[in-house]
Amino acid sequence: MRKRKVPDVVIRRLPLYLRVLSDLDPESSSIVSSYELGARTGVTPGQIRKDLSFFGVFGKQGVGYEVTILREELRRILKLDRVVNAGLVGVGNLGQAFLHYGADRQKEVLSREGLRMRAAFDQDERKIGGHVAGVEVYPVQRLPELIKELPLMIIILTVPAEAAQVVFDRCVASGVKAFLNFAPVKLEIPPGIRVRHADFTLELESLAYYSKEWEEDEGEKNFQSRTDQ
Ligand code: NAD
Repeated sequence: MRKRKVPDVVIRRLPLYLRVLSDLDPESSSIVSSYELGARTGVTPGQIRKDLSFFGVFGKQGVGYEVTILREELRRILKLDRVVNAGLVGVGNLGQAFLHYGADRQKEVLSREGLRMRAAFDQDERKIGGHVAGVEVYPVQRLPELIKELPLMIIILTVPAEAAQVVFDRCVASGVKAFLNFAPVKLEIPPGIRVRHADFTLELESLAYYSKEWEEDEGEKNFQSRTDQ
């Protein structure tokens, strides 16, 4: 039987479902309906059922999904039922913030789902050999060797834009297939490689559009209150 190709948008929603399930207390809620999952994720119940059916996961009709079973299924589908090592290149302002975030066990943001920050890399002699949030900083020349040795499956790019393509190419040549890129640059991406771009600046710029609207509303309100007096 031919396997159905799962659209990337579906894959991107799975961690959202997993987060809700991980936050649920299995003692008090052993069953979750697609309606409840929908209310907590903002995805329609129909879409949730369709997404899960891609993987042969079906709830009990009129009842829902068993929380612990669905959680384990999702972790298995996302390959988070094993340790996934990640490395970070560029231990500057953003890189250091990211490493601290990953290490915050209180929030358990990364660690609860098997992701591990295993190594960081930089070209700056002053940073090499040091540790940030318990993660060792290696010289960037050791990337190919440590990608294979540790091994590193995901690379987070927090280098300046002009360095991003060279670092990316080196990681791809060493076998990395998944990247989270913070550098504001359009990378040349070979087939079979997944890159997620995180860009705070673009998000802020699009929000600026609404700030103008708010300003106009305020202006309108001020005008109203002046004319009401
Ligand atoms: P930074 O200058 O503080 O840090 C960059 C680090 O990369 C430095 O430690 C530097 O030594 C290292 N580096 C430079 N070239 C390298 C190379 N070839 N190999 C290995 N290490 C190298 O910069 P920052 O403020 O942390 O920003 C890092 C990146 O993230 C930049 O591309 C920046 O534009 C981007 N950024 C993105 C967002 C966003 O929302 N996407 C927000 C802030 C910053």
